[in-house]
Amino acid sequence: MSNHPETCFACGEGHYQKVIEDYRLDLPEGETLTVPKLLVLRCDKCGEDIIPPESSRRIETSVDQYQDTLSPAAVRSFLEQFQIDQTEAAEALGMGGKTLHRWARGTQRVSRSMGYFLRALMAHPAVFEWIRDRNWRRGEGTARRARRRLPHRVPQSEGEGTEVISEETRDEDNCKGCG
Ligand SMILES: [Zn+2]
Repeated sequence: MSNHPETCFACGEGHYQKVIEDYRLDLPEGETLTVPKLLVLRCDKCGEDIIPPESSRRIETSVDQYQDTLSPAAVRSFLEQFQIDQTEAAEALGMGGKTLHRWARGTQRVSRSMGYFLRALMAHPAVFEWIRDRNWRRGEGTARRARRRLPHRVPQSEGEGTEVISEETRDEDNCKGCG
C-alpha cells in the first residue's frame, strides 16, 4: 500500500500517514504483547489509527504464537479423534455450540486455557470419555441440578422456564463485536 488519501473516518478532516512503530497490545489475561515495527495508518489531525490488513495478520500471528493458540485444524482433529460432531463436543464440554463452530472455522480464537484443556483431553482420551459419560448437560430439567451448576444465575422466583433461559444466555456470551 502506498498513499492513503482518504479522509479520516474519525474526525473527517485529517488524512492517514504511514507510521511504523512497536505496537503494544493488551491481552485478555492482563498481559501486554508488543509487535515490533508494525505499520499503522494514523490521522495527521486527530491521531486515530487504522490497522491495514497485513498488519492485522501480523498481530493475529503474534498473539497465536504468544498464547500457544490451538489452531482450527487441531480443533477439527479433536472432533475426529473422538468421532463426534460439534454439537456433541459442545454438549460434553459444557459450552455453546456456536463457539465450537467458530473455533473449527477459525473465526474465533480458542482461549489459552481451553486450548490447554483440549490438548490434555487429546493426550488422555479416557478423561474425555469420562466427561462425556457424565452427561452433565442432560436431564437439566430438574431444578436441583440447575441450581448446583448455576448458583448465581438462578433468580429467587425460579420456575420451570428459568433454566432454559440460563442455558440460552450462556450460548450468547461471546463478544458481539469480534464474535
Ligand atoms: Zn482524524
